[in-house]
Amino acid sequence: MNFKWFQNKLTFVIIPEANGSVVRLKLARGVVWSVAASVMITVGAAAFLYLQHAHTAASTFLKTSELSGRTAKLEQALTSKNRRIEELQNDIYMLSKQAAEVHSQVAQMKKLEEDLQKLAPVSAEKNAESGGLPAGEAATAGTEAASAALGMGGPAVPVTHEEIRRLAMATGVAYMALQNEMNKLETSLSDSRQQLQEKQERLRRTPTLWPTDSRIVTSNYGYRQDPFTKKLSFHRGVDIAGKLDDPVYAAGGGVVHEVGYDKLHGHNVIVEHTSGLLTWYMHLNRATVRKGDLVDKGDPIGKLGTTGRSTGPHLHYEVLLGGKSTDPSGYLPMERTKEEKTKS
Ligand SMILES: [Zn+2]
Repeated sequence: MNFKWFQNKLTFVIIPEANGSVVRLKLARGVVWSVAASVMITVGAAAFLYLQHAHTAASTFLKTSELSGRTAKLEQALTSKNRRIEELQNDIYMLSKQAAEVHSQVAQMKKLEEDLQKLAPVSAEKNAESGGLPAGEAATAGTEAASAALGMGGPAVPVTHEEIRRLAMATGVAYMALQNEMNKLETSLSDSRQQLQEKQERLRRTPTLWPTDSRIVTSNYGYRQDPFTKKLSFHRGVDIAGKLDDPVYAAGGGVVHEVGYDKLHGHNVIVEHTSGLLTWYMHLNRATVRKGDLVDKGDPIGKLGTTGRSTGPHLHYEVLLGGKSTDPSGYLPMERTKEEKTKS
């Protein structure tokens, strides 16, 4: 590059508007270009700095607004969480109230169960086992609330988290105790039911019914003068006089053990009630059941007659216990037949 080019002078003439004198400035060409370049660099740097600042300001603004948006969302979430906590606290309170109600229902069920046990007594141990109900804290709280339901008021004391936690725990304990009680009751009630059913079944099978419509006893169980030989003999049953073809009823439920005929007993039916307990109906005109038939107490099993060793229409009714005849009077209460019962 030519160094002289820089040294060449440039003359700047400044001409004022009025009568002032003209100013001449002589400057080297290089100096002029250097000044111009400096000015341009300064302006460029200033512009660059300004733009960078503007960019930072804009991004800060964006970040700030994003943060405030996030804060608003968090606040919203917090509000809804607080609402949910309040709802849950109310749920716990309602549960504690319900526990108290269930507690009183269980107590009622226990009373019922006791009544049932009086009908069908369960062993003494079991009665002792299912003792009094434990009174839970939650249950008490619920009862208090229930009794307050009639009239309400007073200052609203805020409940602490600790109190709610305790109420929830107490409610949990109360529910567990209730579940325990319910399980015991279930076992106990099903025992009672089974015992009642067994009792009912025993009663159904026990011969307690008068086997004829007629109540005319012509000969009791025990020693008597034989109607044929007139000699002293032992009579193993009860003779009940009646009309020919009167119905003869099963004195208790059971299975027809035997249906037969022979010259001594005539047409006769034996019913087995329980193992070792049988009733025997003799001198029938005919049997109306067959061996193996199931009969209920009061079911007709034959027609009254005078077949076999008999002097006239009557039923010889005999009760066999362990294979031996026993006094039927113990099994012949003043109970009437099924038909007589339905008439009254
Ligand atoms: Zn007889």
